[in-house]
Amino acid sequence: MSEHTKTIELEQIACPLCASPDTRRYVSVPDFLHGVPGHFHVVRCQPCRHLFMNPRPTLETLSMCYPGGYGPHRPAQAAERPPSPDSSRITPSPDAAIAVPDSPQDSGTDGVPPATDASTPWYLSRSVRAIPGLKQLYYWLTDTKSHVLPAAPGPNAKALELGCGTGQFLTALQNAGWTCQGVELVSAAVDEACRSGLSVHEGTLESAALPTATLDAMFAWAVLEHLPDVRASLQEIHRILKPGGLLAFSVPNAGCWEPMIFRDRWYVWELPRHLHFFTPARLRRLLHDAGFEKVEIVHQRNLLNIVGSVALWWQRFFPRSRVAAWLLDYPNHPGLWGQLAMAPFAIGLAVLRQGGRLTVTARCHKPQTEELGS
Ligand SMILES: [Zn+2]
Repeated sequence: MSEHTKTIELEQIACPLCASPDTRRYVSVPDFLHGVPGHFHVVRCQPCRHLFMNPRPTLETLSMCYPGGYGPHRPAQAAERPPSPDSSRITPSPDAAIAVPDSPQDSGTDGVPPATDASTPWYLSRSVRAIPGLKQLYYWLTDTKSHVLPAAPGPNAKALELGCGTGQFLTALQNAGWTCQGVELVSAAVDEACRSGLSVHEGTLESAALPTATLDAMFAWAVLEHLPDVRASLQEIHRILKPGGLLAFSVPNAGCWEPMIFRDRWYVWELPRHLHFFTPARLRRLLHDAGFEKVEIVHQRNLLNIVGSVALWWQRFFPRSRVAAWLLDYPNHPGLWGQLAMAPFAIGLAVLRQGGRLTVTARCHKPQTEELGS
């Protein structure tokens, strides 16, 4: 455990969305995944029903909640893994870096790239692929809808990834034709990304002070739930995007059945790092308030939250269980066959709009006068 975690300070806040002080405790949980000491609380705002961490870490000590080795900040994470194709398909942990395929030109019509792998495993070999419909079935079963990677709309299209970690998605953006840059808080991750030749600002989006209406797209995978002031951050993103620019991001889905069933053992509470828990309806309202339109919310097709939550329940009764430990680690190293076996259930939940994670896209709308003034 990091020594830094000993100095985390918490502060009581009003609802970060509506400023009401009227809240009621929802769950209290320790940091199951990284062992930051203490018990932390999620409360529900009574007027607007938003779920958020309260008290939460002060802005000065927020970075201390991220111990060394935290998923997205791990250097060369992908290189440490065996080259299983699904490692490029699934969000490996609530916040782990999102690896993406190497061939963005294979992007599907829905903007979500299908499974690809440079090493072409046997089950995608030419002879197996010749079986009618098998390739399509494979792509359908392994498409978790966990991210969006559109082709660049032009030769000078500019994109930014907020919370880019070590830069795996930035690399994929470059391969898709984007001129891109990243913003990342953690020095070690920035160093790793820069070693790969990527342009990354160390700090917050606000500290990057980017010029108004200059970006064609912004991406933020598993980031919004970490931001202290989501409204202000969305407004800053809106300012930086060009009119019609794309915003794409992912968040856990607090509007599904999972938190109600798993309660304090829901895998993605992830306190004290997750400060907000959004529902689809609240996301739509936030985005519209910030000036976005054409909001589309896709329920991801994976059961990794459920696997992690079952592991946490199992550990409650059998703290030393090896099976529970294996299950808890499974979302970090999901296997292909496990994913294929779970795919029908994951797809079913997504169809019922009960997926545990959401992928959201929206377009930046700016009034004509603002466009002229910028
Ligand atoms: Zn509220």
